[in-house]
Amino acid sequence: MPARTGQQFLDGLKASREIYVGDERVTDVASHPEFSGAAEELAAVFDLQHAEAARCLVPDPETGELINASHLIPRSREDLFKRHAALEVCAEHSVGLMGRTPDYMNVTFAGFAARPDEWAQKGNEAGAENLVAFQKELRRKDLSLTHTIIHPTVDKAQGDVPRAGNDVALQKVGETEHSIIVRGSRILATLAPFADEMAVYPSYPLPEGADAFALAFSIPMTTPGMKILCRDSYSAPKNAHDFPLSGRFDEQDAFVIFDDVEVPKERVFINANLAAYNTVMRTSWSPNIMQQTMIRAQTKLEFAWGLANRMLKCINGKNPAAQEMLGEIWSFAEFARSAIYASEMQAKEYPGGVWFPDVRPLHALRSSLPFWVPRVNEIIRLLGSHNVFAAPTEAQMRNPELKHLIDRYLKGAGDVQAEERVRVYRLAWDFVGSALASRNEQYERFYLGSGARNRQTHEMFSDPTRANRLVDQFVNIQPQDAKGGSACPQAA
Ligand SMILES: Cc1cc2nc3c(=O)[nH]c(=O)nc-3n(C[C@H](O)[C@H](O)[C@H](O)COP(=O)(O)OP(=O)(O)OC[C@H]3O[C@@H](n4cnc5c(N)ncnc54)[C@H](O)[C@@H]3O)c2cc1C
Repeated sequence: MPARTGQQFLDGLKASREIYVGDERVTDVASHPEFSGAAEELAAVFDLQHAEAARCLVPDPETGELINASHLIPRSREDLFKRHAALEVCAEHSVGLMGRTPDYMNVTFAGFAARPDEWAQKGNEAGAENLVAFQKELRRKDLSLTHTIIHPTVDKAQGDVPRAGNDVALQKVGETEHSIIVRGSRILATLAPFADEMAVYPSYPLPEGADAFALAFSIPMTTPGMKILCRDSYSAPKNAHDFPLSGRFDEQDAFVIFDDVEVPKERVFINANLAAYNTVMRTSWSPNIMQQTMIRAQTKLEFAWGLANRMLKCINGKNPAAQEMLGEIWSFAEFARSAIYASEMQAKEYPGGVWFPDVRPLHALRSSLPFWVPRVNEIIRLLGSHNVFAAPTEAQMRNPELKHLIDRYLKGAGDVQAEERVRVYRLAWDFVGSALASRNEQYERFYLGSGARNRQTHEMFSDPTRANRLVDQFVNIQPQDAKGGSACPQAA
């Protein structure tokens, strides 16, 4: 089956799986009131790839069937541009609010399968073969994947990753002829109720002796023993006027328990192999996946800029202070756009003829966004002030006894009617103030590691050659320079 339709995606969610939300076990995700809004929107994303086929679909390199470009293994800069277009279509649908639409994992696995040489190291040849075969299946069946790469926190003083003896984190506890048995828990499976499969792969390196935790695999959500504990739902009733965002885009996040789960060997990509686990994510993963994450984030920033402008238009509120705040949002959006552009233009070829963007601008962006997004939200709150609450519901707007009064007393500046003003300010509150908005801010702070950790890591591994040279002009002075010679030996 090539690129799926929305209906095919929804049909796939019907198979029995163990999903809990609130105080109930969910039997039908697509029709459940807490999930139906997001299920419909994700179905719309699948339909969108057909409606926007020229931007989204490319032929499978082996079968010729049309697949989403997010599955593409980029073999040139042009392929990265093609993928960019498809990622942008997806991001625009939720204005970047859904971070883990299936394209996220499509890009991840395309990147993994692009580098079987990396995965086949340290005695992991069979795992690499399984991974390449799985990526073919993923793209041809157009599956929706969730993933858990983080080990649960028990005692931070013991470090961020499990050591031998930890009985909480997901680990291998047995093996049969055709499968391995895994037990334990992982966090945090965003999109879990809307996924066909659960993927597990490495994150932070594990210490010596932690081989049992060194796992990578993918299994259907229907696999017995896998329990999905969703956080409280922030999905509001589906009403485009009252809850334009939170009625549609709660992608969910879940804690996952593997209660002695059997993973078929052909789906195991790393089988308790510490050396492989600690190396496969080192070079290609970041530049590859961050093209998706940053196109999504940039879309959200640009939406925020547009929204803030519209809020001010409604009340003719563009005073210099407000304009400055608009400029702040614009600069974030523009920095993000430019960084993505730079990363694609400076893309380079990796072993095996695969192309990934330049990681440097993307790392800088990833380090900045956990601080920019909360500031953008703050600006929208500041610009919104009381207006976000003087915004009646659809029922009030349609009430014949109220409508003419609302039209009169909530009209905006110039020719802005009450209807537009109310919709804009309700949209603003749903973007920054609703329960889903609060979750979304948390997402931006943590979804690829915390901002603090990203800043430290990226700074540590960046090339300091030029920075050092600039400083050395003043510090690394030879005795004769100090007596009046050139203070800039390298410039000679
Ligand atoms: C909404 C949401 C969705 C998510 N979705 C997924 C998903 O789909 N799949 C998945 O696998 N994971 C997901 N995650 C998990 C995410 O990957 C982790 O939350 C992330 O790695 C951060 O975890 P941590 O507690 O280890 O953070 P840490 O980096 O330990 O940060 C915790 C706190 O400590 C601070 N801190 C950290 N290091 C330092 C330091 N050296 N000095 C000073 N302060 C420091 C940070 O600023 C932060 O305040 C999601 C998380 C959230 C919140």
